[in-house]
Amino acid sequence: MPQNLLALNWKMNKTPAQARGWAEELREKLELGEAELAVMAPSITLPSLAAHLPPGVALGAQDVSAHESGAYTGEISAAMLVDVGAKYAVVGHSERREYHHESDSDVAAKARQAQANGLTPIVCVGEGLEVREKGEQVAYTLGQLQGSLTGVGPDVVIAYEPVWAIGTGKTATADDAEELAAAIRDALTERYGSDAEGIRILYGGSVKPDNIASICAKPNVNGALVGGASLKVPDVIGMNDAL
Ligand code: PGA
Repeated sequence: MPQNLLALNWKMNKTPAQARGWAEELREKLELGEAELAVMAPSITLPSLAAHLPPGVALGAQDVSAHESGAYTGEISAAMLVDVGAKYAVVGHSERREYHHESDSDVAAKARQAQANGLTPIVCVGEGLEVREKGEQVAYTLGQLQGSLTGVGPDVVIAYEPVWAIGTGKTATADDAEELAAAIRDALTERYGSDAEGIRILYGGSVKPDNIASICAKPNVNGALVGGASLKVPDVIGMNDAL
């Protein structure tokens, strides 16, 4: 079983100064346990975090350009992220798919670019409420997964995030999470063979200190991608201790 990953997704929250305060508070209070802890922070906060995070806590970005360098105003390249100490980059978060119209092939291009520079992409997939109500969540999510992994190697993390559970307080049950995680594991095994066993599959969507343990106890769930509950250090300590 791979090591659990607790990946914190701050979204568009915290200035560099606030990030530093959070990192210093974490440094005072954190005792790293069994899980790997990683912070997916706004890119502009990464240098401050790199200087102040407790040792052993990994850094990541919330997006990365699909391009190596050049005339792409406003974008941030994988090489830039690596240079400031990032290990991960989230790609294909549902908010980027929705507000920035990112397609599966855009997501795959970003994931390939991340890997080419030594960053591990955290590829997000998951169905919306309409799909869930029709009971088509497995087929939909696996379709998104296949499209988002074109040309992508096995050094990848997958985050299953049902859109209806993100920031809504509605959490999928542990069994819902496992249904998709198991289906994703099978698809990864078809694609990558035995390498699939080591790939972390995270659940995301209203994860908190009091529900993380039961979800991550499922055999195919290897951690969580956490938004709202990542912002306050005591919640992060609670989740870290529960894993
Ligand atoms: P949430 O967000 O924990 O606030 O639901 C999860 C995510 O969007 O990654």
